[in-house]
Amino acid sequence: MSAPSPTPPAAADPGALLERARRVAALVLAPAASATDQAEAVPREHIRALADAGLLGIATPARHGGQGAPARVAREVLEILAGACGVTAFVQMQHATAACSLIARGDNEALKERVLPRLAAGERFCTVGFSHVRRPGPPMVRVEPDGDAVRLDGTVPWLTGHGIADDAVIAGALPDGRLMYVLTPLWAGDAIEPSPPLRLSAMNASATVSLTLRGLRVGAEQVIVTATREQQAARDVAGLLTPSALSLGVAGAAAALLAELAGRRGSAHLAGAARSLEGERDDARAEVEAWADRPEAEGYGEHAVRVRAWCIELGVRAAHAAVAATGGSANLLDNAAQRLVREAMLYSLTAQTRDLQTATVQRLLDRGGGATDRARS
Ligand SMILES: Cc1cc2nc3c(=O)[nH]c(=O)nc-3n(C[C@H](O)[C@H](O)[C@H](O)COP(=O)(O)OP(=O)(O)OC[C@H]3O[C@@H](n4cnc5c(N)ncnc54)[C@H](O)[C@@H]3O)c2cc1C
Repeated sequence: MSAPSPTPPAAADPGALLERARRVAALVLAPAASATDQAEAVPREHIRALADAGLLGIATPARHGGQGAPARVAREVLEILAGACGVTAFVQMQHATAACSLIARGDNEALKERVLPRLAAGERFCTVGFSHVRRPGPPMVRVEPDGDAVRLDGTVPWLTGHGIADDAVIAGALPDGRLMYVLTPLWAGDAIEPSPPLRLSAMNASATVSLTLRGLRVGAEQVIVTATREQQAARDVAGLLTPSALSLGVAGAAAALLAELAGRRGSAHLAGAARSLEGERDDARAEVEAWADRPEAEGYGEHAVRVRAWCIELGVRAAHAAVAATGGSANLLDNAAQRLVREAMLYSLTAQTRDLQTATVQRLLDRGGGATDRARS
């Protein structure tokens, strides 16, 4: 008689995960947000708190040691974290939503079994360096077959979380034009040379660097997936709405700041502004949820860029309203309002595709209404 197959581990309760995210946000991230914004790196205690709450494995399937949360719950967690500390949320997204999800959706089952449980538990931290594959022109990273391995050469222009991360998912182009995604330790001797941390106006603590790869040898056991450019473009579009949660988080933080100012000053006007932005945030979130998990639906691409551009613009506008309502002190580096503006600005660029770039600029022009019409005539 064959042994009964083991019961697969159950996914975590979404309500409990959200509650844990709210606790980490309120008790660990929010009180340190201003200091973290000005720090060299995200504090390790933040990463530890996220790991202890299971939030680094939120999008990893339960059978690979993660929480197996639906994408909707992972977005809500990201929104909660972004409302408390933008840079911690940004770094969490690279590990939990970008890297771990990519490995989990990849073709390499042995790799999943080997690395995902440790990544989900936060025993190792993983970042990503693949946005360059969206750029037109000659590949920035070339991948050449080398016996039973591959060799990577070139430049990864953006990689967040250097110093915190142990591993990275890196992509490059094969000689036939297909894209290969590999998992590599970041400490690989002379084969990976990081730049000094890039000086950034927003998310400086993300410890973002560029990498020079010189003959980085990666074995077949570390290859995650190989994709055509069409498959890559389809994945980009399918993931377009995930970072909306960052913009919605910053919009919520700005609305809360306005509400707090309203209370302190007894201002009905500011209280109304806070309610209005909160209401718009609910509407935008409903649109995200209507489309995010249906990339195969007719008209998805067009709606996804429109909704993401709305979230981007709402985040920046809400943060700007918080600056205006705060007054001159908003410009002090430890003031929350200006930090929110910088974070919201960065979310305009995150995982940007050309169509999203066009939709974002168009959304900003459209809000000019009559003024832009006059300029055209
Ligand atoms: C602080 C920070 C941290 C980041 N961290 C990471 C990270 O950890 N990992 C990671 O992978 N990425 C990271 N990024 C990259 C980020 O996701 C990209 O900025 C974003 O994808 C835009 O790409 P780009 O910077 O390469 O811009 P650009 O090269 O300006 O491209 C922007 C968009 O326009 C299109 N485009 C550009 N030139 C042309 C042209 N001539 N014709 C047609 N279309 C064109 C591109 O296809 C692209 O979609 C980070 C960026 C910042 C600012």
